[in-house]
Amino acid sequence: MNNAEYLEKDFYAALGVSKDASQAEIKKAYRKLAQQHHPDANKGDKAAEERFKEVGRAYAVLSDPKKRAEYDEARRLLASGAFGGGFGGFPGGGGGFPGGTRVTVDDFGGLGDIFNLFRGRQSQTGARRGRDVESEVTLGFEEAVRGATIPLQLRGPAPCHTCHGSGARPGTLPKPCETCNGRGTVTRDQGLFGLSSPCPTCQGRGSVIEDPCPTCNGRGTEVRTRELRVRIPVGVSDGATIRLKGQGEPGQAGAPAGDLIVKVRVTPHPLFGRSGQDLTITVPVTFAEAALGTELKVPTLDGPVTLKVPAGTQNGRTFRVRGRGVPGSGRKGGGDLLVSLQVAVPEKLSRKERELLREFASLSETTPRNHLGID
Ligand SMILES: [Zn+2]
Ligand SMILES: [Zn+2]
Repeated sequence: MNNAEYLEKDFYAALGVSKDASQAEIKKAYRKLAQQHHPDANKGDKAAEERFKEVGRAYAVLSDPKKRAEYDEARRLLASGAFGGGFGGFPGGGGGFPGGTRVTVDDFGGLGDIFNLFRGRQSQTGARRGRDVESEVTLGFEEAVRGATIPLQLRGPAPCHTCHGSGARPGTLPKPCETCNGRGTVTRDQGLFGLSSPCPTCQGRGSVIEDPCPTCNGRGTEVRTRELRVRIPVGVSDGATIRLKGQGEPGQAGAPAGDLIVKVRVTPHPLFGRSGQDLTITVPVTFAEAALGTELKVPTLDGPVTLKVPAGTQNGRTFRVRGRGVPGSGRKGGGDLLVSLQVAVPEKLSRKERELLREFASLSETTPRNHLGID
């Protein structure tokens, strides 16, 4: 029975038990079915004989917790398509489970060996992890403050869409290399030392592709444009990087894919600045407003708020509007809006204004320079 057929069989269904059946339930179901379909009780009944064998195979795997766990995992991966898309360490370039090429597993013990073979590949051969890929997104100021999901198009090597990265024609699978027995390395006896080197037949992959995928010619990768959606966290700042695990270039010989590193650029806002979690804004006021006090309408990202400016406010004084900064997320608390007042000096005055200001100046008994000891 080959490995693929192995995994296509639902052993739980064969025994008529649920996926989370206990060992006792499995044993009970097996005993009942084995008795029922036993060849002694069904002389000459081919169907019963097949059924009897099937029940035996199912029981051999499910009654052994280790084999059962491997079987469950393999079935889960098979169902999720993971074999077709980068199963870590699958011989032959990153996936593509077992289809047509006959990987022979002689007995039930073989399943675990096959899986260990796949898993062990990387460490034994040093198969190269895929390269990290860098990309850049530019966000609007408000998108960066509030968080966003940004579509990103990436052109570069990706798992082949036909074989999902296995390199083997769909419906077939890479075959363990006979030269190295699937290990990916060969050991030559050099007197006292055994010298280990990558297998020349399979170039360290541990498997050979007899029937290559027609799209990628067995490489397992193809250059294409991928469409990704990158989630930008709330409050990201200009220059930040976001790492997307496994979204880089596919690895060699089933090694893991690299990461995608997205650098974030934030376009400046015409009114607001950022200082960590706080937003900043500078609001000009007239000398009269600062001296007499006033109520100002100040814009925020969530609509204007009213700010009371007390009489005698100095140029450059900063007011804090609570909760109008970058929203909190995770362990980061939300920020405030820092409003700095800037006393604007008029560049042009009307005749009347000039007269009033002259009069104002003549009324002042002190100057702001008195404490310096000068007039
Ligand atoms: Zn392909
Ligand atoms: Zn080999």
